[in-house]
Amino acid sequence: MSFSEGGAVFKRKPKEAMDQTPHLHQTRKNKKRDHGGGNRVKAKRRALVSFWELPEYMKDNEFILNYYRANWPLKEALFSIFRWHNETLNVWTHLIGFILFLGLTVANLMEVPHQVADLLGFFTRSMPFSAETNVSHNFKDFAADTTRLVDLKHAAPAEMDITLLEMAASRWPFFVFLSGSMFCLLSSSICHLFSCHSHHLNLFLLRIDYVGITVMIITSFFPPIYYIFHCDHRWQLIYLGGITLMGVFTIVTMLSPAMSSTKYRALRALIFSSLGLFGIIPAIHAVVVNWGNPQRNATLAYELAMAASYLTGAFIYVSRIPERWKPGWFDLAGHSHQIFHVLVVMGALAHYAATLVILDSQHTMRCGSVVA
Ligand SMILES: [Zn+2]
Repeated sequence: MSFSEGGAVFKRKPKEAMDQTPHLHQTRKNKKRDHGGGNRVKAKRRALVSFWELPEYMKDNEFILNYYRANWPLKEALFSIFRWHNETLNVWTHLIGFILFLGLTVANLMEVPHQVADLLGFFTRSMPFSAETNVSHNFKDFAADTTRLVDLKHAAPAEMDITLLEMAASRWPFFVFLSGSMFCLLSSSICHLFSCHSHHLNLFLLRIDYVGITVMIITSFFPPIYYIFHCDHRWQLIYLGGITLMGVFTIVTMLSPAMSSTKYRALRALIFSSLGLFGIIPAIHAVVVNWGNPQRNATLAYELAMAASYLTGAFIYVSRIPERWKPGWFDLAGHSHQIFHVLVVMGALAHYAATLVILDSQHTMRCGSVVA
């Protein structure tokens, strides 16, 4: 669907639109060339509808006036990923985010051997039970592992898989965060693509979307808490246990049908923001115990950028800026939900950068000098 085609729908005044019989299953016939035989064939193209033509369950944002899909079959909803409608950019913003995080995950799984050796060295030094004398001994082992990893380029695929799995296992909090982000971004994309199918699927996908946001927030806590408090398992357990409990509570709440309704938009944003703001407590604690860390300011800058992105996103999500100022102007591009999506991806990327700095800085520190 091009912008000009949609423009015809947009120019229809609300009152006229209300008078019209809803044509939710109406199709427009376009003539298309059959490239194989050169014959002209008739291709059906489902029409987009206005806000006033929507079934009640889809009337969520009264400031987005047109370009809606309503009660579309799954196949057409799937292929609408390549058409212009008011969810196109909502689908693509998080689909691109998902691909980005998938790329980062693969890159981290396949990263160069010397980084792995560095990381393994860091883990050994950070083990509370590892004595100073063990460090040099263990590091020799890791140097040997590095050589072995370089040799793995020529090794059998099965052997390489096992080693990569071992590497991934030692960095599990990092991959928990990456997986949580991917789950959130992909479930959001799927939700926006298929929620136009039916009321039943719409409700189900909305809940999955909210669960995805919760999972992303919770899993974001894992790398910083795990790595910053790696010398103090008590605090690791308190913070990670606390956020996981809050997350489970939030997921149960979000799964209740009432929470998906429009009137609870502000409450949902409040719950998600509170979950994120819980991070202030371990963050202050982390700053105190890492006061002497030269990377402190870089980590804080990234984490503040993340917090600013998420909170701005939550505000825009609730306030429906800018479409409330000019209803109908931002139907296809620039409405609040799209801005919110972009800010979520930016926040997650800032957090990813912060995690890398934390990993790097912890690498150079030993237990005893980090946490009192
Ligand atoms: Zn969304």
